Amino acid sequence: MIETLTDYPWHKKTWDKFSSARTRKHLPHALLVTGEEGIGKKQFAEKLVQSLLCHKPSNNKPCEQCNGCKTYTAGSNPDFMEIQIAEDKKQISVDQIRALSKFITLSRSFDFYRVILLHPVEAMNVNAANSLLKSLEEPADNTIIILLATSLNQIIPTIKSRCQLLSLPKPSYRQATDWLQINAPDLSNVKERLDLSFGRPLIALKIDDIDIDKAADFANAILQVVKENKSITEVAKVWEKTQHADLINWQISWLQSFTKQQLMNQNDNKEFKEVSPLEQDLSEIKAHIDAEPSWELYQNILEQKKYLHTSVNPLMFVENMLVLWFKASHPCR
Ligand SMILES: [Zn+2]
Repeated sequence: MIETLTDYPWHKKTWDKFSSARTRKHLPHALLVTGEEGIGKKQFAEKLVQSLLCHKPSNNKPCEQCNGCKTYTAGSNPDFMEIQIAEDKKQISVDQIRALSKFITLSRSFDFYRVILLHPVEAMNVNAANSLLKSLEEPADNTIIILLATSLNQIIPTIKSRCQLLSLPKPSYRQATDWLQINAPDLSNVKERLDLSFGRPLIALKIDDIDIDKAADFANAILQVVKENKSITEVAKVWEKTQHADLINWQISWLQSFTKQQLMNQNDNKEFKEVSPLEQDLSEIKAHIDAEPSWELYQNILEQKKYLHTSVNPLMFVENMLVLWFKASHPCR
């Protein structure tokens, strides 16, 4: 069970920004917290909420003892409202935002903040977003609306401009590894999990060992193509039925780590004593591809991602990717 903020060391800077604004009494009436999935954004927001509802925060951190904290953790704090996608729905509706508008006109039960947590912002339909704008334009006293979003791209500018932005960074590789080792000491294949989840520890936790084995098999298949042990069509036939999104994401994570290793001119796996078959295959593939073609390959695989949800022939889709690996490893042909 993860209880305290210090359990997510990469949140500290963002928390300090909030904390210092609060200490200076510069808290805005709306906060927009952005960050990728799988880095603890919701957990961060929950601590923000609790800190605001707490009657005796120390250093702006919730005390866990007061009535505000206790009612919040029990899910019954009368000054708190959470808005998220309803179970049988795909969007946040305008009715939910109307309930929010009504909530902020009520008198507060405790003499502290009233807090609304709305997530994900991207799930609001146009009517809901327009309705929310009104609440953001006419803030109620001692009321803070906290919005959560994965990326700023899909949020209308009028909402963005009315909020103070707080962006939550991804952990460093070291932080993510340490976090997994502390919070899931029995977890196997930590490095593979982090690679496959693009360094997002909360997603790495959920990856199945079967997925790791599959990814390792695919890396080996690529190696066979690079070494010309197997034909592209032969390999593509084996993999055409695997989720193409998985194939693409694995390749992207491998190519990102190739680039990172080339930039740092070192292998960042040194801290792991045992080398897995996946790592072995990847380092062998890497030995066949120079830095520049590796970068081009990365760009080309990213380009392939655009065809994921189109009706492109599955065999051809996999063949095209394998051709890219072959060309990158045989630049003169
Ligand atoms: Zn408290």
